[in-house]
Amino acid sequence: GPALLFVKTSQGKEEGRRFYACSACRDRKDCNFFQWEDEKVSETRLAAREEYNRNHQPFFTHRQNVDRYKNFVLLPLSKRRFCRECQQLLLPAEWEKHSDHQFLCGITTAQLKSPSQLLYPLENKKTNAQYLFADRSCQFLLNLLTDLGFRRVLSVGTPRLHEMIQSKASQEEYSVRSLLLDIDFRYSQFYTEDEFCHYNMFNHHFFGGEAARETCRKFLYEENGERVVMVTDPPFGGLVEALASSFKKLMAMWRETEKEGHDNKEMPMFWIFPYFFESRILDFFPSFSMMDYQVDYDNHALYKHGKTGRRQSPVRIFTNLTPSMIVLPEEEGYRFCTVCQRYVSSGNQHCEICNSCTSKDGRRWKHCVLCKKCVKPSWFHCNNCNCCTLPKHSCEKTDSGCFVCGKAGHKRSACPSLSRS
Ligand code: SAH
Ligand code: ZN
Ligand code: ZN
Ligand code: ZN
Ligand code: ZN
Repeated sequence: GPALLFVKTSQGKEEGRRFYACSACRDRKDCNFFQWEDEKVSETRLAAREEYNRNHQPFFTHRQNVDRYKNFVLLPLSKRRFCRECQQLLLPAEWEKHSDHQFLCGITTAQLKSPSQLLYPLENKKTNAQYLFADRSCQFLLNLLTDLGFRRVLSVGTPRLHEMIQSKASQEEYSVRSLLLDIDFRYSQFYTEDEFCHYNMFNHHFFGGEAARETCRKFLYEENGERVVMVTDPPFGGLVEALASSFKKLMAMWRETEKEGHDNKEMPMFWIFPYFFESRILDFFPSFSMMDYQVDYDNHALYKHGKTGRRQSPVRIFTNLTPSMIVLPEEEGYRFCTVCQRYVSSGNQHCEICNSCTSKDGRRWKHCVLCKKCVKPSWFHCNNCNCCTLPKHSCEKTDSGCFVCGKAGHKRSACPSLSRS
């Protein structure tokens, strides 16, 4: 889909030159598309690009994959193979071509219903950054959504949540439906065009064109009062600006489907993202608030439950629903703060001066009277820098200044403005 327009800036300088680069890949190694905004591109280069794109299309279309799936499930267990190298379900006629590849045999219906277990996670940090929910977190999310009365879930980059809904729906009387939007085309092998759209959330591009858009639009139309919620868990390295722009377009799509007019209402949304992006997200979605719930992952070394007690995950839920409605599990240590009217981590103490539960990371934060706000327990107030910061910082030394607020004295990771109250 469309490239994004970037600008290179350096501190204190005039605006730099603008250029287009790939929206989805944040590493030039994954996609080297680059073009100055004012650059004239020759016919030959355009032709070469088109040629390159043609050669890099997926081998099968979504339609073909759907047909292949139908044939695949008709096969006896002994003939159901999955090529691990090509990440593809194989039909017997294709075995030959993959004879020197590793493959799995006897793919069961249960395995077909949980593709996120069958496919290996694309962990490449700069592109897919596929970090799958731990079962506990996925179950929590789904229960939360159903308890809130939602019957349709637009799953944007949440294949595991989608899969949990899909497999429940096929097993029992279950009225929740889900549509997965994701850039990982491997999922088209397991879901029909009504269940999965190949989508880029950094530029709101539907690879399936108008038909896919229409699928999404239809899904968002709240027939028979079936309420829709959107859940998204984008790669954490992603540009908040680009994501917010796409999500606003999805919200607009929802608003336009309703005849009675949702007027001033917003499509209910859960955006799962690390807590240190709070101020960035609120810049774009002032109606959102951050929940204390810590989202855990299966394949993320840092963000999962260790064997020895709990590792703290920095990943949170941002939502435009009323915070008091988001009930967090008491058995996992969350409690309701009657003043803040929301569930908070057990370690999150209500600060009388700030008049709010101020901790962002679950630890007990302390109030600094000079900064007039609560800060991390490990910070202290530095009179040189005139703010609270890490004990082992060098005062005003970082000459380039902080990437977030531009002030000297601290790096982006220690920026006080990231923890605005
Ligand atoms: N925790 C989620 C997965 C989140 S990982 C779950 O368990 O369901 C991020 C997801 O976003 C991956 O599925 C990845 O394929 C998808 N993704 C990455 N870049 C994307 C893009 N540009 N557009 C759409 N989806 C993208
Ligand atoms: Zn193969
Ligand atoms: Zn409180
Ligand atoms: Zn305080
Ligand atoms: Zn201070």
